Amino acid sequence: MAGPVADERVQTMKNVYKLSARRDALTGVIVICAILMFASTGGTVLSDAINSLSGQAGGSDNILGSALLLNIALILFGWRRYRDLSLEVEERAAAEQRAHLLAITDPLTGLLNRRTIEEKTTDLIDAAERKHKSVAFLMLDLDNFKNINDVYGHGAGDIVLKHVASRIASVLPPKNQLSRLGGDEFACAFIFDPEQPEMVERIADDLIDTVASPIVENGIHLVVTTSIGMSRYDPANNCVDALMRQADIAMYSAKKQGRNRHCWFDDTMEKELQTRNSLETEMRAGIPKGEFVPYYEQQIDLATGKLEGFEMLCRWESRTQGLISPEIFIPIAEETGMIGDLSLSVLRQSFDDAKHWDPSLTISVNISPIQLLDPWLAQKIVKLLVETGFPANRLEIEITESSLFENLSLAQSIVGSLKNQGIKIALDDFGTGYSSLAHLRALPFDRIKIDRNFVTSILKNPESRAIVQAINGLGESLGMTITAEGIEDKETENELRSLGCTKGQGWYYGRPQSIHKTREILAERNLLLTKPDAEIAASQIDASAPTGVENMRQKTA
Ligand code: C2E
Ligand code: MG
Ligand code: MG
Repeated sequence: MAGPVADERVQTMKNVYKLSARRDALTGVIVICAILMFASTGGTVLSDAINSLSGQAGGSDNILGSALLLNIALILFGWRRYRDLSLEVEERAAAEQRAHLLAITDPLTGLLNRRTIEEKTTDLIDAAERKHKSVAFLMLDLDNFKNINDVYGHGAGDIVLKHVASRIASVLPPKNQLSRLGGDEFACAFIFDPEQPEMVERIADDLIDTVASPIVENGIHLVVTTSIGMSRYDPANNCVDALMRQADIAMYSAKKQGRNRHCWFDDTMEKELQTRNSLETEMRAGIPKGEFVPYYEQQIDLATGKLEGFEMLCRWESRTQGLISPEIFIPIAEETGMIGDLSLSVLRQSFDDAKHWDPSLTISVNISPIQLLDPWLAQKIVKLLVETGFPANRLEIEITESSLFENLSLAQSIVGSLKNQGIKIALDDFGTGYSSLAHLRALPFDRIKIDRNFVTSILKNPESRAIVQAINGLGESLGMTITAEGIEDKETENELRSLGCTKGQGWYYGRPQSIHKTREILAERNLLLTKPDAEIAASQIDASAPTGVENMRQKTA
């Protein structure tokens, strides 16, 4: 339960208690008066009554008799009220306890909530300091938990969370503090001997094992893994906030290293994070300044040696840091949601460049998996083609297998729209990911690109050669052409040709070059148009063909 809601409930209950306490005080006063009256009148009235019964003189006074009865009634009333009150107090205590529990725990798992783990960890630190011990703080985040919710529904997700909660609790040492921070994130803290940090690692290992063992529920086997970040209390420069933050940073590092593992926090991670954050700030400023530019890598017909086109590879020409590789800035752009704008900006530049090249030359561009979650992507690309006048049939879009995981039907719809325009689709880096036949059949690919790791090792490693050969066979039977990337020498080129690869690219033909250098290369080969051919190119684009969004609408209609 959220903290403020719980606070509100506790406050309302306190108000109710105050009101009934005032009423109880009034009842108490009335009863005390009744008892006093009984004490003062009771003796006289009773002796009168006894006298009257025994036939002696001085019968009972009616008024005093009535007063006595009233007193008795009031005392009975007080007694009943006392019983009610005792019951009410018990109920109040139970309700108070419930409200308190709701305020400090997570209703799904019964573990502590985020707010409480902070307080409890502070207590744990105090206790540890008294014993000259330290505190380990572990942050656990389930890997790909979203898939379970998506595939099996939120009910199954809740069941998994409950199982995970009790499994974590079963592994932790006594006197631990365990909480669910929210979603699929858990945190725990416990005291350990600073001389023996390996004890914490052993616990983290056990946590990873216990979480990963299958959960069987209604005949379904669910397997979920976890990544753990670990930090330890250091009296010199640490507080609970820092402890939690460091464990969080370490957890992301564990994710980055491949998930299903644990990782201690160290200072370099903090520096990395700072560098990443400052890169992010500079990127935000760099996009509108046009610092992200297309570079071009030649793609060659392996049979004839003819230049067929270029792969556009983005570069960041940072004014402060020089030329920066996409391997550094693309992940940041993806994480921060900048990838869409950045990609469209370099696509526009490359279409503008390429429309001045010989019309036989194609251009291949990389599209991030994140972009394939944008239902308007096809429309945006088509709009760019129309605006720049670059013909769709000279464009090839490269996507990786990971693009197909998040939302396959949306990816299929976007790709369908792009293909309607005559744009070709290539599966990039094949062989590194799942390399699944199902994925190859899921989208109408025109081309498979063999990852350069296999190509560069083809001469030395028979396994790489076998894989390249198998992918070629696959391409042949599925009617898809094959491009080998990463060709660095003549021997590799010969080998690939003998295995049936039709197209290749790599440093053997030249490194990716800026537009100025690319224009020089094209001019030398007489492949630059003397005047822009924009009108002719634009006329080849069918802007009325349905795009991703419209396809989706038609599907759902
Ligand atoms: P990719 O699409 O697989 O591109 C091929 C990468 O291999 C390029 O690295 C290229 O420079 C490099 N390469 C080409 N030939 C050779 C060779 O013979 N030897 C070696 N060792 N390397 C070679 P680059 O330019 O650093 O790009 C890295 C990745 O960044 C690309 O891999 C692509 O996934 C991504 N990327 C680049 N530009 C964009 C973009 O505009 N949008 C998106 N979403 N991703 C991009
Ligand atoms: Mg590529
Ligand atoms: Mg590639």
